[in-house]
Amino acid sequence: MGTVNHLQQFHVPFDAEQFVQSHKECPQDVPLLDALWKMVHPAVFWREELIAENDGVCLRLYHNTLCVQSCYVAKGLAQCSRATVLALTIGSALPQFAANAAAEGRLYEAAVADYLGSHAVELFADAFCAYLQQQALPKGMYATLRYSPGYGDWALSAQPDIFQFLNGCRNKIQLSENYLMEPVKSITAIMGWSDKWQKPEYPHGEHNAFCNGGHNCAACVTWACRKVRNQG
Ligand code: SF4
Repeated sequence: MGTVNHLQQFHVPFDAEQFVQSHKECPQDVPLLDALWKMVHPAVFWREELIAENDGVCLRLYHNTLCVQSCYVAKGLAQCSRATVLALTIGSALPQFAANAAAEGRLYEAAVADYLGSHAVELFADAFCAYLQQQALPKGMYATLRYSPGYGDWALSAQPDIFQFLNGCRNKIQLSENYLMEPVKSITAIMGWSDKWQKPEYPHGEHNAFCNGGHNCAACVTWACRKVRNQG
């Protein structure tokens, strides 16, 4: 059985000058961004397991410890023998600051804090996945992109299974009845490991007679093209 690993205070590089250059919609307020970034407290829980089965519709981890019912994820991890499931958060300080500022009518600060919070958790997820990739390279293993519940046909209702798989994240990240996480700036995801380099691209559907893939397959909640094919 895989161990649930935990890291607090993972270093996420942040340069406010660079951030405002690459995020034109963000107010060019470097002093405020620097002050807000001090409220970012990254914490992550992760667990790696063998992939026991992937039939194109469902991906099962070792000993049925987790079953991912998703053609999107199954296709994205098609070449993988192992997978890492993770839950990470930037903590509650920054979202709480945003909520307090909004309540006190400091709407500019509230908006910047919320904006930064949304980007901070993505920056953290990117930095942490890159860290795991660095650890895996000497073993000749290559990571896929990360997949989160609520994307493609992987339903948000899969969240409780992820939290169970991660032993409840020591209650440092909590899940509400409608599958929302607290602290609110948190992410759960799965990424696969393959002995073949993985193209950093999310999978497309079958583009068959059933559906020509006109829409964005990453936003497709059915992946019916695949389910129809599998019923063949
Ligand atoms: S049903 Fe269409 S939109 Fe959905 S995944 Fe398949 S090809 Fe993409």
